[in-house]
Amino acid sequence: MLQLEHLFKSYHVGDTVTHALDDVSISFRDKEFVAILGPSGSGKTTMLNVIGGLDRYDKGDLIINGKSTKNFKETDWDAYRNNSVGFIFQNYNLISHLSIMDNVELGMNLSGVPAKERRKRAEEALVEVGLKEHMHKNPNQLSGGQMQRVAIARAIANNPDILLCDEPTGALDTETSVQIMKLIKKLSKDRLVIMVTHNPELAKEYATRIVNFQDGKILDDSAPYTAETEQDTFKLKRTKMSYWNAIKLSFTNIMTKKGRTILTAFASSIGIISIAVVLSLSNGFQKQIDTTMSKALAKYPVAIAPTATDMNAMSERKDSDKNVKNRGYLIAQQDESEKATHVNKITQKYVDYVKKINPDYANNISYQRATSLNLLAKDNGKIKRVEFSNNDPDQNQNMSAMRSQAMSSVGVGSSVFPTTLNKNKGNFLKENYQLLAGKWPDKATDLVLVTDNKNTVNINALKNLGLKPKDNQKFKFKSLVGKQFSVVNNNDFYQELPTGMFVPQKANQSMYNAGTKLHLTGIIRPKNEDSLALLSTGIAYSDRLSQKIIKQNENSAIVKAQKKTNRNVMTGQNLNQDAKKQLLQTLGGSSIPTGIMIYPNNFDDKDKVLDYLDKWNKGKSKKNQIVYTNMSSMVTTMTGGLLNGITTVLVAFAAISLVTSMIMIGILTYTSVLERIKEIGVLKALGARKKDITRVFDAETFILGIFSGVLGVAIAYLLTFPINSVIYHITELTNVAQLNPTHALILIIISTILTLLGGHLPARMAAKKDAAIALRSE
Ligand code: ADP
Ligand code: MG
Repeated sequence: MLQLEHLFKSYHVGDTVTHALDDVSISFRDKEFVAILGPSGSGKTTMLNVIGGLDRYDKGDLIINGKSTKNFKETDWDAYRNNSVGFIFQNYNLISHLSIMDNVELGMNLSGVPAKERRKRAEEALVEVGLKEHMHKNPNQLSGGQMQRVAIARAIANNPDILLCDEPTGALDTETSVQIMKLIKKLSKDRLVIMVTHNPELAKEYATRIVNFQDGKILDDSAPYTAETEQDTFKLKRTKMSYWNAIKLSFTNIMTKKGRTILTAFASSIGIISIAVVLSLSNGFQKQIDTTMSKALAKYPVAIAPTATDMNAMSERKDSDKNVKNRGYLIAQQDESEKATHVNKITQKYVDYVKKINPDYANNISYQRATSLNLLAKDNGKIKRVEFSNNDPDQNQNMSAMRSQAMSSVGVGSSVFPTTLNKNKGNFLKENYQLLAGKWPDKATDLVLVTDNKNTVNINALKNLGLKPKDNQKFKFKSLVGKQFSVVNNNDFYQELPTGMFVPQKANQSMYNAGTKLHLTGIIRPKNEDSLALLSTGIAYSDRLSQKIIKQNENSAIVKAQKKTNRNVMTGQNLNQDAKKQLLQTLGGSSIPTGIMIYPNNFDDKDKVLDYLDKWNKGKSKKNQIVYTNMSSMVTTMTGGLLNGITTVLVAFAAISLVTSMIMIGILTYTSVLERIKEIGVLKALGARKKDITRVFDAETFILGIFSGVLGVAIAYLLTFPINSVIYHITELTNVAQLNPTHALILIIISTILTLLGGHLPARMAAKKDAAIALRSE
């Protein structure tokens, strides 16, 4: 079954050449017990290693079951060792961090025997070697003889055809030696056993054939055998270590050096900790800035006012402070701010363009209109004219004019709440206000009464509603909610005199009845002190109401008459174009708003909104451009950018420590490789491929990587608590450091990948280790 034909093997160290095998030819029977005797250094171990496929011959041939091994590939040898050969060594070579059972199962693991079957066969092998009672111990709890029995059980568990024993009793006392010899003798009944020994007596007593070795040559053979030419009956089952087994092997190894592992993991987690802390701080600060910003943002929408200051025009002129020479002339110059004043010609087209803005960027738009409402209210059966305004009624001669002026000023104190573009994406009122009484407005004719966060309302607003409030007087919600108003159209409200002039009629019941009824449905106030108080206190209504009124009045007699003449149809005053336009708007003769305010959904979307507005101006002459006013300061953008910059720098610094830990893991893995050389040898003897060895060490770094990643993230998370408390004491900001779970996960993955990279090189080195040398090492 096994033939060695003119085998040569020499070792070259420096200039010296050792001929360990020097033309060795010998054949073995299928079942016999061959003892190899010979002085130390005569090449016995070399021959066993070559026969077992742990070492390669230089020349000649090794024929197994009729098959030449000349063209064997690495994996063929691996499979051959696993399937056909069992090794027994003088120093047992058990893997000390695995249990006895796991040691015996190792070879079967490699050949993919199912777990149950493996367990069964391992138990059988252990019973066969007489270790039934010690099956569940660890190798270091056994005597030498017992350890050798475990090694024998491991060698025979996969039921090999060939058992190779290299001085199996060399380290045992006489009595134990005899027991082991008896055991090997028993095993030789079913297979070929080749045993190297120093003990001629034992050889004579137990072996069936004795071969003497000297200087790499066979000196004599007590029972030579010439094999007939055999048929090639050689078959191999490929070996492969599963990832799970690689991890198990590494894990048990790691568990034997817990202290060192924890220290290493801690050291290499420092990089992760610092990155995680930096990220959680920056994350938290970003959140703080975002909330502050969105608060600021809501207060300061992008406004398109009737006039705007053109910032570009402002900064165009940069004069030096120096005196010029007396040049004998002077220069007429427009005031700088006047020069920069831009009149926005808001057209219906522009309004439609703004309406089409993506609701994902800005979902709320409010319109300022100069339209005045012809309002009536009933007070104790008496019909009275009223106003939705905060202006002092006693001093207010020309309410409409004043109001339109107030409205054109940007941003504050509007009484029309924004229109929500996409109702599914939030509602401006509900987001910024809380309901004190009644219900939220729904219909165009629904009104709300707005108070500030102390539930106070401008006294004038109440006076204008026809109430007679005293300072600090309290009004029950009940007395206000449900209040009805009537808005009368121009034709019912104004009377045309035969002169062609118009005068408001005295308010009366039939006029009230003819008007559109409005209802005060609810009382609201800003949600909290941070919410914007965008609406001034008093009555607020939707733009739909304004539009409804404009529709009613667009073609009213007074509007038609006013359109035709440049005189004020109520006072007879001469009007310029601007004043006429304004008056028409007041009378509801124009559906174009005087101003527009756009509320970006959050800070980042603001740029998109501005881009969208800029797009309108592209290619238009300066006169026809619409200049918006962006109230939120530039500072916020700067701080955002600054924070990103700082974060990047800090993360980069922290990343350096990650690289350091990567190198450290490399060194550690290398140390581990050196420590586990024996184990590498044993694994190879059992048929592990190079890949499997790499896998074992990769698994070790994988475990370390995950462990240090998780440890780092956990420590960083715990650190956020003291950090937050310190920050709170300094700045009163709560929960600034917040570790983002996604960041945590990514950091663990990075840690794992980096340690895998750091450990992979030493792992590859381990795989390349010569099995024969590995096993010779002490
Ligand atoms: P034995 O087992 O009979 O004592 P070995 O087979 O171990 O002998 O060694 C045979 C010869 O080969 C010895 O001279 C030994 O020094 C040499 N040898 C074995 N392995 C190596 C090696 N890896 N490198 C160099 N020389 C070696
Ligand atoms: Mg030897």
